[in-house]
This record gives sequence, structure tokens and C-alpha cells, in this order.
Amino acid sequence: MVDESLSATEGYYTLLRIVHLGPHTVRVRVHRQIEVEPCFAAAEVLSVDMTWTPLVMHHPDDWFDRTATPFKHINVKAELEPLADGLMQRVTAILVKSISIPEHVLDVVGALLAMAYGSTGEHLVTPDDVRWAKANGGPFRAIDRRDGSVLLTKAHRYDCPLLTSECDVPCDGKCQAAGGDPSLN
Ligand SMILES: [Zn+2]
Repeated sequence: MVDESLSATEGYYTLLRIVHLGPHTVRVRVHRQIEVEPCFAAAEVLSVDMTWTPLVMHHPDDWFDRTATPFKHINVKAELEPLADGLMQRVTAILVKSISIPEHVLDVVGALLAMAYGSTGEHLVTPDDVRWAKANGGPFRAIDRRDGSVLLTKAHRYDCPLLTSECDVPCDGKCQAAGGDPSLN
């Protein structure tokens, strides 16, 4: 959790929580007023353009009666934490599938998939496929290049200058002999 703030007055009480979930920043807000109408419980995710995009909501009709009427010294955490936790569980379930992959990598792999299998392509990678790919050819590397392109390669051995140098040093040409070309396996 990055931050959590609680506030209460005679008229309302609020819980605000900011959480990092892998590459995502999530904001959970639960707001309880005297009337049900302005109450809300929602989780939002910070998008690339730095705006909060709604992800899940919990309608106040479902929890208004289970929370106390506002007063200044109410225990905000005790009242609203279960609701915030419930929202976080739903957010995690939604985001967790893509959580370990940064967006830039998703974009590049998405482009590779689209080129190989079409713009609506789909391909299942099995654990056997992964084992085979790791055991054969060179290591997989995604190299960002200065012109904005990304080189995805298994054609070079671990210590090839192309993979080990920071700059655009070309391959020294010894990779084929090292069994670096996956198509030879
Ligand atoms: Zn090489």
C-alpha cells in the first residue's frame, strides 16, 4: 500500500487508499454520507494519460445499511475497511492476469503475435513450448533501439556483443557456430 487516508466530519466519512499492483496504480475510495444518494465505493486505475479510469464499483444500496451514520469521531477504518478490501480483491482479480508484464512489452509482443497470426490472432504457448524454447537457440532478448524499434531475438549467444553492450554494437558473427540460430535446432 502506498497511501491511506481517513477523514470524518458530522456529515460524512471517507477512506482513500492508493495501492501499487505490479505496473498499475490503483485508487480505492469509499465515501459515506448521511443520505444514501451521494455515497460511493469505487476502485479506479491510473491510465497512461494520468487520469483515473473506473474499474469496479460497489453500489451504496448494498452496504449503506451496514455502515454507521456519520459523526465526527467515528472509527472510519472499522466502518469502511471491509468495503475497501472487497474492492481491492475484485481489482486484483481483474488486473492480475497481465500484472507481471509491463505495458511496453505487451505492446511489442502484441505486434509480434499480430504479424505472425493476424490482427485477431490467438496462440497458446504451453509449458512444453517454453521449456523447448529455453533449451534451444540463444537467450530471448528484447532490445530497444534508438529508432524506436524493438529487436526480439533468440539468434545470439549469451555473450554476443549485440546482447551484452549498451550501445548498438553489431553481432560479431560467431553466433551461428555457438548454436545460436533456433532454426538450426
Ligand atoms: Zn550475435
